[in-house]
Amino acid sequence: MVKDDKGLLIVLSGPAGVGKGTVCRALRKIDTNIAYSVSATTRPPREGEVDGVDYFFKSKEEFRKMIERNELLEWAQYVDNYYGTPLQFVKDTIAKGKDIILEIEVQGAKKVKEKYPEGVFIFLMPPSLEELRERIVERGTETKDLIEKRMNVAQKEIDMMKNYDYVVENDEVDAAVKRIQAIVTAEHLKRERL
Ligand code: 5GP
Repeated sequence: MVKDDKGLLIVLSGPAGVGKGTVCRALRKIDTNIAYSVSATTRPPREGEVDGVDYFFKSKEEFRKMIERNELLEWAQYVDNYYGTPLQFVKDTIAKGKDIILEIEVQGAKKVKEKYPEGVFIFLMPPSLEELRERIVERGTETKDLIEKRMNVAQKEIDMMKNYDYVVENDEVDAAVKRIQAIVTAEHLKRERL
C-alpha cells in the first residue's frame, strides 16, 4: 500500500458567530494531529485574545508588507478589516505529514481552492439565521452596527456554501465535531492507494 504522507489542508468556513472557533478547539483536543493556522489580521484584539495564539495582530502597514512579500497563502477583507493565512506554516505542517485547519471566510477559501484544490473544504452552518444573530448578540463583543454588518455578510456567505465539499450543521458542538472527524478520517482513507 502506498500512503500519501502529506497532511490534509482542511478549510473550515461559515458565518461569523456560527461557532467555528469552538468546534475547531474541540476537534483539536480529540485529534492532536491537526495543527491550527493562526491568521494575521488588522482587527483589534477582543478581550482575552492573545497575539500569536488567536491571531497575529498587525497594523494595516504591516499587513500590506506581508502581502507584498508573498507571505500569505490568501487574504481577504472582511467587514472593515483584513485577514490572511501565513503561508510558510501551512507548507511546513503539511510537509511534516500533519493536518492543518484554516478557519477562514468564504472569499479566502475560494482563493485557497484555486491554489490547492486537493484541500478539504467544509462549511459550518448555523441551524438558522435567527439563531446566528442570537449567538453574535450573546457573545457581546460587537456593537449594534457591527452585528448588522456581520449578519449581512452571513447571508452572502451562506449563498457560497455550494463551493464546499461538505456542509456540516452546528446544531450541537459534539455532534458537529463528530461529523468533521468522520470527514477527516474518510479523506485520509481516500488518499491511501492500494
Ligand atoms: P473574527 O473577526 O470574528 O475573528 O473573524 C471574522 C471572519 O474572518 C471569520 O469568518 C473568520 O473565519 C475569518 N478569518 C479569520 N482568519 C482569516 C484568514 O486568515 N483569512 C480569511 N480569508 N478569513 C479569515
